Amino acid sequence: MTAPPPVYLDNNATTACDPEVVAAMLPFFTEQFGNASSMHAFGAKVGAALRDARKSLQALLGAAHDHEIIYTSGGTESDNAALLSALETQGGRDEIITSTVEHPAILSLCDWLEKSRGVTMHRIGVDSLGRLDLEAYRRALSPRTAIVSFMWANNETGTLFPVELLAELAHEAGALFHTDAVQAVGKIPINLASSPIDMLSLSGHKLHGPKGIGALYVKKGVRFRSLIRGGHQERGRRGGTENAPAIIGLGKAAELALAHMGEERTRVMALRDRLEKGILQRVGNCFVTGDVRERLPNTANIAFECIEGEGILLLLNK
Ligand code: PLP
Repeated sequence: MTAPPPVYLDNNATTACDPEVVAAMLPFFTEQFGNASSMHAFGAKVGAALRDARKSLQALLGAAHDHEIIYTSGGTESDNAALLSALETQGGRDEIITSTVEHPAILSLCDWLEKSRGVTMHRIGVDSLGRLDLEAYRRALSPRTAIVSFMWANNETGTLFPVELLAELAHEAGALFHTDAVQAVGKIPINLASSPIDMLSLSGHKLHGPKGIGALYVKKGVRFRSLIRGGHQERGRRGGTENAPAIIGLGKAAELALAHMGEERTRVMALRDRLEKGILQRVGNCFVTGDVRERLPNTANIAFECIEGEGILLLLNK
């Protein structure tokens, strides 16, 4: 008897590219290879497709303007661009507030800024359910805070932070608010037009799009200083010839995520809950971590006592 194929359960690390995404991208490697900046017909066709893709991403984010989107190489670049920009545009403010549970894209940047640039860092802790210590956050805010960066959804536990409330508190102190929404985009409804969030990072490969493409949303009116300087692409805010196939793939992934969000949420949540229940019933000494009421529909985080995570991984990786 042949063994059943392995089940992939690591979708917060990366997702498979949707076949519709791949199909949308393919022509832009071959017949539609033009540079969107070129004035001739080869470029113009690609330019038009890029505009459509931007509109699809705008719709998924509920953003008021499509030029609030700056394409990047992924979540890591978007996070770096947001924080480094704020330190330059926030007139003498030299403190950053973040949490202890951010992705390394934020945490290692913050460590570096602290050590090499003397930026004062406030890292706010979480309770046993992964919820942010709001009082510690309030105490850390000051007229020196340049930017606050809290993730929308945690990549390990799926716990959601109340980012809109956190953004309002940041604004009361005159600080900008950025959210690393790499795990949230495509999974939960987002409406940036009516939200106080100033900047938001996302990544294509977390929502069945391609790797190596992401975006930073910068609300209209928020000053932005480029991380990568070069040509006039992205309205001069991120130099470099547009990665047309990837941008078009991300646009298709955004379109599919928006169209199927409700049904996917119900489907994936039922699968997740079944898996979680089955493990808890059959395996002893384990419990679910994180805030089970305020979490992503696709994420389960189960802690097993008396066995190391690596040990379980090796046993399951067959
Ligand atoms: N932020 C979060 C919360 C993530 O989960 C990840 C990827 O694991 C990143 C940032 C980095 O994104 P990318 O791989 O696109 O650089």
